[in-house]
Amino acid sequence: MENLKYVGTRNKNITATASQAILKGICDDGGLFIPEKMPKLDKTLEQLSELDYKGLAYEILKLFLTDYTEEELKYCINGAYDEKFDTPEIAPVVKKADVSILELFHGKTIAFKDMALSILPYLMKTAAKKNGIDKKIVILTATSGDTGKAALEGFANVEGIKIIVFFPEDGVSPVQKLQMVTQEGSNTCVAGINGNFDDAQTAVKTIFTDKELEKELNDNGFMFSSANSINIGRLLPQVVYYFQAYIKMAKMGEIKLGDKINVVVPTGNFGNILAGYFAKQLGLPVKTFICASNINNVLYDFFKTGKYDKNRKFNVTMSPSMDILISSNLERLICMSSSQEKTKELMESLSKDGKYTLDLTNGIIKGEYATEEETAEAIKDIYKKTGYVMDTHTAVAYASYEKYKKERNDNTPTVIVSTASPYKFTKDVLKSIDKKYADMEFFPLMKELEKISGVKIPEPIKGLENKPILHKNVIEKNEIKEFIKKQLIK
Ligand SMILES: *Cc1c(COP(=O)(O)O)cnc(C)c1O
Repeated sequence: MENLKYVGTRNKNITATASQAILKGICDDGGLFIPEKMPKLDKTLEQLSELDYKGLAYEILKLFLTDYTEEELKYCINGAYDEKFDTPEIAPVVKKADVSILELFHGKTIAFKDMALSILPYLMKTAAKKNGIDKKIVILTATSGDTGKAALEGFANVEGIKIIVFFPEDGVSPVQKLQMVTQEGSNTCVAGINGNFDDAQTAVKTIFTDKELEKELNDNGFMFSSANSINIGRLLPQVVYYFQAYIKMAKMGEIKLGDKINVVVPTGNFGNILAGYFAKQLGLPVKTFICASNINNVLYDFFKTGKYDKNRKFNVTMSPSMDILISSNLERLICMSSSQEKTKELMESLSKDGKYTLDLTNGIIKGEYATEEETAEAIKDIYKKTGYVMDTHTAVAYASYEKYKKERNDNTPTVIVSTASPYKFTKDVLKSIDKKYADMEFFPLMKELEKISGVKIPEPIKGLENKPILHKNVIEKNEIKEFIKKQLIK
């Protein structure tokens, strides 16, 4: 097969193979890697529906990761999608009320980040081997709550790799925080920062383009990479489950193969939905993507008006993994919809003035958003109607979908991408169902959730309350660079 080249979003002369792009994580000029051209499926939907998740993953990933051999890719896929997931389906689809729900929370950290972060360490190790890397790889990760734990879980005790995670000290759920600060593994490091996710992500992105630091680390035998969705290796494995959702909907009789569907994605950094957009480019029949935001609704405004403006209040919501005002992966969509020159100009404007204008209002991605009340109402409503308990992020998507459907009178069969288990946001979920849970302690609440939902407390968070806290660092956002140096250069 022809080798697919990756190019920078701000300069098309920055090029890399797939494995090099995964190793680097981000371009030297701060741009992101995208495929130079979109590959096309070489199998029919009928053929794909014969495959299990691993088989599907191979058929999709081989189109993008063309410098990996078949043997290497299958090794990565088999290592990732195994008994770490609590169902052999890996990503099941359930039908509740008027929608299909794609459950992406059956992995080790009970959020959708596991879908990509189970395989990224394998892809990265393989990439290091292929490219003769003899340095220790340092994975720098900014997290709005879920990436951190999923990356720690994936990279813990992987030889030749060290992982450092920064999370907003006051911006994650109690389970998210406990999951991270109790992480074992001698190569793991976790720090809370006094700031929000955007602060953490911007600081980490700046470090990736700091030439002086790069040299200093290089001299000490280290190189940086990223486990955030700025890394193309995070995005590509996420393309797979959009096909899985479609095929399952066909098997359940919701659609016939070839019919178009709508897809609703609770969105923060725009990685998940962009993977869906890639799936559509490959040939998945999608009519509309609904990009669902919480009240940090920059993306809603952007898709409605063509104006992106992050100069606004940052809200801490009950869907914290979507509390983001700078959606990094939008840069990739912008480049795919315009050019490197235009993207560079807009990104400079974003970093200088916090805003830019580009009209994508007529594309296949539409924006919607849900307020906190609408989100709570959605959780309660679905529970009352069906007994199904969904998490706060999924509820943002569901509430957004209901608004969209009403406004546009669109009855296309729809799948909602469910990004986390309700157990990760137990308190807000139960409070939405009944105010009486508001004052209950956290761990009894889990038992309560088990009782009302009929879904067992997931294995990975059982006993979390008794685990020793191993990471106690809390730093200021302007101390990140020094902190990293201290961790690495003794
Ligand atoms: C990360 C995350 C999101 C947002 O996904 P993006 O790819 O950043 O848009 C939504 N929900 C949950 C639970 C998440 O962890």
